[in-house]
Amino acid sequence: MAYEKDRNYPVSTVAVYLRKSRGEEEDLSKHQLILTELCEKNKWKYVEYKEIGSSDSIELRPVMQRLLKDVEEDTFDAVLVVDYDRLSRGDAGQQDRIKKIFKKNGTLIITPNKVYDLNNDNDDTYTDFQGFMARQEYKMITRRLRQGKKIGARQGKWTNGSPPFGYSYERYRNKYNQKGLVINDEEKDIVRYIIDKALEGDSPNSIAWDLNKQEIRTRQGKLWSNVAIYRMLQNETYLGKIISNKQKGDGHKIKKASAEEFRRLPREEWVIVENCHEPIITQEEFDKIQLMIEKRRKIPTSARTNKGEFTGVLKCGVCNHTMQIQRRKGRVDTIKPCQYHDQLGEKCINRGGVLQPVRDAIKEVIIEYKKEILAKLEGASNRDIEYVTKQLQQKYKEMKKYEGALEKVLDAYELGDYSRDEYITRKRKWADKISNLENEITLLEKELKSQEQINDEERLYAITYFLENIDKIENIQDRNKLYKTLLDSVIWKRIGDEEPYLEINFL
Ligand SMILES: [Zn+2]
Repeated sequence: MAYEKDRNYPVSTVAVYLRKSRGEEEDLSKHQLILTELCEKNKWKYVEYKEIGSSDSIELRPVMQRLLKDVEEDTFDAVLVVDYDRLSRGDAGQQDRIKKIFKKNGTLIITPNKVYDLNNDNDDTYTDFQGFMARQEYKMITRRLRQGKKIGARQGKWTNGSPPFGYSYERYRNKYNQKGLVINDEEKDIVRYIIDKALEGDSPNSIAWDLNKQEIRTRQGKLWSNVAIYRMLQNETYLGKIISNKQKGDGHKIKKASAEEFRRLPREEWVIVENCHEPIITQEEFDKIQLMIEKRRKIPTSARTNKGEFTGVLKCGVCNHTMQIQRRKGRVDTIKPCQYHDQLGEKCINRGGVLQPVRDAIKEVIIEYKKEILAKLEGASNRDIEYVTKQLQQKYKEMKKYEGALEKVLDAYELGDYSRDEYITRKRKWADKISNLENEITLLEKELKSQEQINDEERLYAITYFLENIDKIENIQDRNKLYKTLLDSVIWKRIGDEEPYLEINFL
C-alpha cells in the first residue's frame, strides 16, 4: 500500500523502455520482469515500449522515436530502463537531443538503482533509488501535475464512458484515496462468479441462463445475454489494463459528413496501459478462458453450416426463430425440433416432423395461388392502381371534413353553445365516423402498396418458373433461392400430440 501512503508522490504514470544491447543475447523478458515488478510495487501505471533491433542510432530505433515523441508531449512522469545506457547511447548529438527532450518536461529516468533528473543544475545528477523514494524533495515535478496532462488515454485514464460491470468510476479521490476505475463490490462478486463458471467450462449461454434464473440482472436491470457474457470474458479491463486506440474513425450508424471510415486497428497500434486499477481476473485465468472460447468457436454448429433448403424461410410458430432441417443418408428429411432456448434457458416446445408433406403443401398452395392470380387478371375483380388511388384521395378529403366538424363541436362547447350531454353525443358521432374512415383508408393503402410492390404479371411469371423447376433442382441452395423468390416465410407449429400447423406467407 505504498501508493496510498505517498499519495502526493508525483510519479504515477511511466513508460517502460526495453531494448537489447548490442551483442547481448540475453532475453528481454528478464528485464521486462524487473521493470514491471518495479511498477507493480510502486503502483505506477505503465506503457511498454519494446525495441526489437539493437541499433544505437535513434533513426534505426522506431520504438525509441515513438517514446521520445510521447515524452515530448509530456505523457509520462518517468521512463523506466534497466540502465541509463540503454536509453542514451549513441553519438554526442543524439545524446544531446534525448537529454533536451527529457529536460524540457522534467521527465525522470528511473532505473532499479537510480533516479536521474536531468533538470537538476548539475548535468546528469542522479540520486539512488531508495533515497529518491524516501524523500519528497522533488516538489518541482508537481508543477507538471498542476498543468494537467494532455493525453488522458496514454496515462491510463478511463475515457471510455460507462465503466465495465464490476467497476465504478470515481472522478475525484474517494475516501480510500482511489480515483478512476474502482471496484464495485456487489458487481465484482457477480463478475467473479461468471469467471469461475467460465473456468469450469460453462458456455456464455448457460452462464446467462444461470444468472437470469437467479434473478441477477445487468446494470440496466435487463436479462443477461450470451453476447454480454462473451464480451465480459474478453474484456481486458478486468486485468487492470486500460486499452485505447483500438479503432479509428466513426463507428456510429449516422455519420458526420467529415467522419473517417471506421476500422479496427491491429494490436501493435493499441495503447495498452497496465496496472491502472485493481484487476478482477488474473492473466492466467484470462488466457485460459480465451483458449476455451477459441475451442468452442471451432466446433461447427449445424446453425452455421446449415445453408439448406429452407434457411431463412422455415420459422418456428411458437418463438419465431428459424427452424433447422436434418438430412441423413438413407432416411427421410426432417424438421428438427426448435433449438431455441429463451433467456432463462427454457427450450422451445415446438416439435419437429417429416419435411416432405411441408414441401407438398407449399407446392399445393402455390398452385392455388396461381389459379387465383389468373382469375384476377381475367376478371373484373382486378381493381387497378388508378382506381384505388382515386378512392384514397376521396377518403382523405372526407377525413379533413370530419376532423373540421369535430373541431367545431369542441369550439361550440367551449363557447357554451352545447350542454355537456349534447357535446358528448355530437363528439362521439364524429369520432366514430373518423375511426371508421381510418380503417377504410388503412385497407386501401395496404391494397395500393401490395399492388405497387409486385404486379400480378410479374408474380405469375415467378410462380410459373417456380412450379416448372422446383422438382428438377437437386442442389439445396438453389432450391432455397427458388423458395425465396415467392415466400416470405413458412411457419411450422406442432405442440404435443396436436396436428402440425402450417402457415405459408408470400412476399
Ligand atoms: Zn421455437
